[in-house]
Amino acid sequence: MDLKSGYPFWAVKNGLMVTFPQLDADLTCDVVVMGAGITGALIADELARHGHDVVVIDQRDVCWGSTSASTALLQYEIDTHATELARRYDDATALLAYQSSLNAISEIEELARKVGDVDFATGESLYYASKPADHSSLIDEFAWRKQNGFPVRWLSRAALKDEYGLKAPAAILSTVAARVDPYRLASRLLERIQKKGARVFDRTEVTSMTATANSVELITDRGMSITAKHTVVANGYESQHWLHETVAKNLSSYAYITDPVDPDELRWLADTMVWESSRPYIYLRSTGDGRLLVGGEDDNHDIPARRDRRVNRKAAKLQRKVARLFPNLNAQPAFAWAGTFAETSDGLPLFGKHSQHGPRVLFALAYGGNGITYSMLGAGLLRAQIEERPHPLTELFAFSRLG
Ligand SMILES: Cc1cc2nc3c(=O)[nH]c(=O)nc-3n(C[C@H](O)[C@H](O)[C@H](O)COP(=O)(O)OP(=O)(O)OC[C@H]3O[C@@H](n4cnc5c(N)ncnc54)[C@H](O)[C@@H]3O)c2cc1C
Repeated sequence: MDLKSGYPFWAVKNGLMVTFPQLDADLTCDVVVMGAGITGALIADELARHGHDVVVIDQRDVCWGSTSASTALLQYEIDTHATELARRYDDATALLAYQSSLNAISEIEELARKVGDVDFATGESLYYASKPADHSSLIDEFAWRKQNGFPVRWLSRAALKDEYGLKAPAAILSTVAARVDPYRLASRLLERIQKKGARVFDRTEVTSMTATANSVELITDRGMSITAKHTVVANGYESQHWLHETVAKNLSSYAYITDPVDPDELRWLADTMVWESSRPYIYLRSTGDGRLLVGGEDDNHDIPARRDRRVNRKAAKLQRKVARLFPNLNAQPAFAWAGTFAETSDGLPLFGKHSQHGPRVLFALAYGGNGITYSMLGAGLLRAQIEERPHPLTELFAFSRLG
């Protein structure tokens, strides 16, 4: 499966930051983490820091999958409104999902600051109503979040125009959000755990996985065997390969980045992310070197050749939308790309065991627009499961909720 097309900026900017050996001997360990993207890196780091003997293995160079294509806005606001989650499940469930995601932003901040030099910055997130018909659902969403103590401010049409120069019916401003270079963060985490004794291998594909009551055995493309007490499947959008049932819908998402923009033009966009109520939505955020990163235009094509052909056309369409929103901003694409993306029906991720493989195989499917926030939550959750401790998110992120 080809996970990305075009020129994902992080890969272009950073090049191959770290490389690891291919696996050429059999080995045993406590936990093998299959997949070295941001999800595998966060989980491996969490486990290694807490004394587990961890092996990480990836079929590509590390972080070369979706992680290198991610636009990496870090938001607690998930693609499904809290009010929608409350209707679908209940208020307590919506609160758990939103509150956990809010906490995850601080956890990523702490980690990013410790690791250092990963273009992390906090900011605000402006969620505007794309059309008048969305106004009332935004009012409800704002009221729910305000009532539950989330850091939000309501912006009327007039306030939005005055303060941001943006023409839209209304918006919710969240004062907690962040951004990061996900490729750098994941690469540095892998480097860090290796220095502390974890073993990391790249360019080594896992071709089979067999779980018994006491262990899991993985066999690689070069015939090596890894025996572990637990396996974490962090294969991103390729994880479906290990499951008979379809658990999510694959899409393609498109993005482009500008050259550094004059700070006088960028103004408040330097520290405010923007997204909208339409689905699929357009979103914008800046980078540490003053570029503007724009994404959206998701479609149902996950056939790589078709997606490859669309990259420039989609970037041009995104650019036209940005020009309508911000007529004075020069937001020409410097690099454009696309990536495979997946969504569950309720916008929540899937972490934990699946009946097909038993309790020693734990999946880490950080699906949805907040994939990275979910991966951070999944790290703590899967560690708790491996250590046989209860965790508040066990049920909410379990496969069993899909029915
Ligand atoms: C265009 C785009 C924009 C996005 N924007 C955001 C955003 O703004 N905010 C946000 O939070 N999230 C965003 N996401 C989602 C986020 O990027 C993903 O959740 C995240 O990158 C997934 O990371 P991962 O480690 O799970 O997957 P990946 O990075 O794909 O890593 C999985 C790894 O598993 C390896 N692998 C697969 N099969 C095997 C095998 N058999 N053997 C060995 N290794 C294997 C792969 O080689 C790969 O390196 C976006 C995604 C895309 C595509």
